[in-house]
Amino acid sequence: MPSTELPMTGLLQEANRLMTVCNACRYCEGFCAVFPAMERRRVFSEGDLNYLANLCHGCQGCYYVCQYAPPHEFDVNVPKTFAGLRTETYARYAWPGFLSSAFQRNGLVVSLAIALGLALMIGLTFGMQNPEVIFGAHSGEGSFYRVVPYAAMVWPFGLVFLFSIAAMIIGGARFWKATAGKAGAKLSSAAVLGGVWDTLTLRNLGGGGGGCTYPEEKFSYARRIYHHFTFYGFMLCFAATSVATIYDHVFGWIAPYGFLSLPVVFGTLGGIGLFIGPAGLLWLKTKADPAPRVRDLVGMDVALLMLLFLISATGLALLVLRETGAMGTLLAIHLGFVLALFFVLPYSKMVHGIYRLLALIQDAAERRS
Ligand code: SF4
Ligand code: SF4
Repeated sequence: MPSTELPMTGLLQEANRLMTVCNACRYCEGFCAVFPAMERRRVFSEGDLNYLANLCHGCQGCYYVCQYAPPHEFDVNVPKTFAGLRTETYARYAWPGFLSSAFQRNGLVVSLAIALGLALMIGLTFGMQNPEVIFGAHSGEGSFYRVVPYAAMVWPFGLVFLFSIAAMIIGGARFWKATAGKAGAKLSSAAVLGGVWDTLTLRNLGGGGGGCTYPEEKFSYARRIYHHFTFYGFMLCFAATSVATIYDHVFGWIAPYGFLSLPVVFGTLGGIGLFIGPAGLLWLKTKADPAPRVRDLVGMDVALLMLLFLISATGLALLVLRETGAMGTLLAIHLGFVLALFFVLPYSKMVHGIYRLLALIQDAAERRS
């Protein structure tokens, strides 16, 4: 049956060339999940290459050992090519399609979302309340809503969040449909659990036991540790918001809650994780070797890490100063940053979590088949 795929261009063509070279060489087969997955294929379709690019976590290990890396004429640079291809994947499967251009100059897009989120929340707060209320000290049940009215908090966040979740699910489903089921893999509950486990533990960032060659050629666990802080910090903050929503809507317990309540404990631990993790990852980026990286994509990573850092910093400040006159302004700024994150969830580096999870599930399925 003739192929229905269009001829490959650009990064796909380069990835195809590299995988053909690597499949003949196979020196790196023990390095990560990418090379064994590559070896299960003889030829590489567009779906295969997008899958392999998302299975790669950019540890740079194969670049440092490669005898064909630049300045060799074969010019093999797998982490750089796959980093570019991953971003093309995010844009290719993004929903709705006309927003896929947000992945170009993504640092600027995230900055604009921050400006919009801040303008909206500060504008709503200062437009709906008088200065005595905003700059006054409040305490006890409902004090947040005294400054930022309930409707201004719930409606923008609810609508943007639901849209963003739908966009991420549709994008992930498109990626799965285009890439899964190759190499004769059958999906099973064990494969799903295996992929989820690899994601939750960041198993591949452990390398062969000594960590990754990131930010430089020396092996280190730093990236794995800071990524764990970021991921689990984010999940704890999400858990805090979810529990607070149940408290409010199911039990009628109105925020702010006590320091030992579940939403505050989750939020505090999550905020600390989201402070340390992005700060550490940003610090590693300043030391990263530029050769195996795509310079144009640094803005995308930095913009998201900065946004997560600002969310945690303002959230923790709000916790400490919630009974002072600074609470109103801090709350509006914090909510502005959170709204910006909701805006850009499906059109920022955040989507790498979905694509990596799906690629790891597929990898687990292929290993079991
Ligand atoms: S990256 Fe280089 S050393 Fe590793 S498998 Fe490919 S060609 Fe061989
Ligand atoms: S950069 Fe790391 S994860 Fe990516 S293909 Fe090379 S060794 Fe594997």
